[in-house]
Amino acid sequence: MGDTAPPRHDTAPVRHDPAPAGHLVLDGLVKTYPGKDGAAVRGVDLAVERGRLLALLGPSGCGKSTTLRMIAGLVPPTAGRISVDGRDLTDTPVHRRDMGVVFQSYALFPHLDVARNVAFGLEMRKTPKAELKRRVGEALDLVRLGPLAGRRIAQLSGGQQQRVALARALVVGPAVLLLDEPLSNLDAQLRAAMRDEIVRIQRETGVTTVFVTHDQQEALSMADSVAVMNQGRIEQVGTPEDVYERPERPFVARFVGRANLLDGTVTGHTGDTTEVALPGLGTVAAAGDRATGARTATGRTATVMLRPHRIALAAAAPGAGSGSGTGSGGARGTVLSAGYAGETVAYRVRVGDSGPVLDVEQPTGTRESYGPGTEVELSWDPAAPRLVSAGEGTE
Ligand code: ADP
Repeated sequence: MGDTAPPRHDTAPVRHDPAPAGHLVLDGLVKTYPGKDGAAVRGVDLAVERGRLLALLGPSGCGKSTTLRMIAGLVPPTAGRISVDGRDLTDTPVHRRDMGVVFQSYALFPHLDVARNVAFGLEMRKTPKAELKRRVGEALDLVRLGPLAGRRIAQLSGGQQQRVALARALVVGPAVLLLDEPLSNLDAQLRAAMRDEIVRIQRETGVTTVFVTHDQQEALSMADSVAVMNQGRIEQVGTPEDVYERPERPFVARFVGRANLLDGTVTGHTGDTTEVALPGLGTVAAAGDRATGARTATGRTATVMLRPHRIALAAAAPGAGSGSGTGSGGARGTVLSAGYAGETVAYRVRVGDSGPVLDVEQPTGTRESYGPGTEVELSWDPAAPRLVSAGEGTE
């Protein structure tokens, strides 16, 4: 992130459009825990389409688990409604909600074998024996654990326990599947494999799913849509491409990937772009404006996002010096630091003599690398700068 990243827009009120129709709908959900200052969840509106996987993504403590637990019926909301298929479930007890839940800890019964763990929900529902056996078999086949039906939980790896938890949640044929950080106890390699498995199982069953995670890669790679949450509120909901390429707020730009956020003043408009004068960088033309499409008035402050990997570095021409920005497509600067990270090199580059410091990420192998003190030219394609936040005035 650049030195000039402005925190102030993050505190602007989040605007909510009326909740669109969905299979699972949350309407103004609020949760205040007794004895805790401020609400953990501060008015969440969300609609998940039937058969889709929505990731609830945000930093630790932002209210994701509380939201999921309210959907599951494990935590009573302070205000707001929860409905599935238009049926209000807000006051319906957990066992009548028709939801399958998988927790981070899996919460399996260690003294029961795999099949009995999976059968639990069906036994509670007094499902006839033959049907129970068939459905447990199907659920175990779905998660590819059929051969381990007789194993005890303690004899399973973390990934296998995860599959048991999924089978146990799915065996009852829930209307909604809720997954609370289900991959966080697995090592990196297994986590990547289980991402694909969960997506496969979700597609095969077509169950409407809410997946809680603090891991942006997980959310982007698995979800049909991503709801980015911060301090008890949803900041933006969209496809993975929407929240990464077209963040509407600085928090989303920073949390979903790395971002240089540069504060400047709007100087005009050309077509769909907004021209923003950035101190030390000159004027850049930034695509995108607030979600409404309303234009930000000339003279207002605005924040421009430039992703580190969309900036290219080249050695500066000898004797060119490190002047200020060269306008819309680039600038000159000095490398402050270079961090080798295998596939990429992460640079910090000071623009001009006293301009902003930009994060720049370059693939290794194809590009030359530059040590600290090197004078460089920075360039980016005209579509790279993105307006993520602007002052309140529009024209
Ligand atoms: P996340 O899942 O995003 O990490 P949580 O929903 O677990 O966030 O927590 C949101 C906030 O509510 C945090 O400040 C947390 O400390 C608080 N919180 C969560 N559960 C309780 C509880 N049972 N009692 C009091 N505060 C809680």
